[in-house]
Amino acid sequence: MELVTVGTGTVAPSARRTSPCHWVSRGDVRVLLDCGAGSLHRLAEFGLPWHQVSHVILSHFHPDHWGELPMLVYALKYTTQPPRSEPLVILGPPGVVQLIRSLAEGYGDWLLDPGFPIGILDVRDGEPFPLNADVSLETFPVPHTTESVALSLVAPEGRLVYTGDTGPSSELSRWATGCDLLLAECSLPESMAMDTHLTPERAGRLAQEASAKRLVLTHFYPPVETSDPATLAGKSYTGSVTAAKDGDRFTIGDGRG
Ligand SMILES: [Zn+2]
Ligand SMILES: [Zn+2]
Repeated sequence: MELVTVGTGTVAPSARRTSPCHWVSRGDVRVLLDCGAGSLHRLAEFGLPWHQVSHVILSHFHPDHWGELPMLVYALKYTTQPPRSEPLVILGPPGVVQLIRSLAEGYGDWLLDPGFPIGILDVRDGEPFPLNADVSLETFPVPHTTESVALSLVAPEGRLVYTGDTGPSSELSRWATGCDLLLAECSLPESMAMDTHLTPERAGRLAQEASAKRLVLTHFYPPVETSDPATLAGKSYTGSVTAAKDGDRFTIGDGRG
């Protein structure tokens, strides 16, 4: 299973980091975990086959995590040659169906009927949702907004856990236990810590409590960049830590641990 951190930023405008988006591919499953502003152009920049995306999975409904989704559907409708016929499946916590329907009232009917099948499904916590025969999705509630969930993708070779936006949560660390790669938000420096986001130190503790085999940090607001997030996270976590940049690539199940 391959991970590319397409957008490692937030809503804060940045020349180096676009809004949250992470590409995960394995066989014919090609997933976007969140789809924030700037994702499409970054996917093109990094040479990823965005037109073959099979699933978009949202962690929550803050617009910096889904703002590019209508543009993705629009681009798939008008710029794929030959015209796309494969379905696009949009998944997220309960409310995602309502969100997309509401967006379609403003954008137009094409968002629900772009000329290829669109499936939209609310995913319930604790019910594994198969993406194909080998890869399945699970969600887990996290302290951020009422609907916010962490996302887990499990394949035979390993498990990826993406925190989405979250505050510290011992329940989350239990749920993530033993994952091969923990992709954790790292919003703010410790001096600005809050209950609904993580700091480098808190992301490190989460990874340590979960015995995650590897920690990759994402979702950096500008103030946290004045520090060295990977070093700070490493103070409480004994595994390998990477502060991801847009375009970084990782393999889950490569035995690196
Ligand atoms: Zn958020
Ligand atoms: Zn966010």
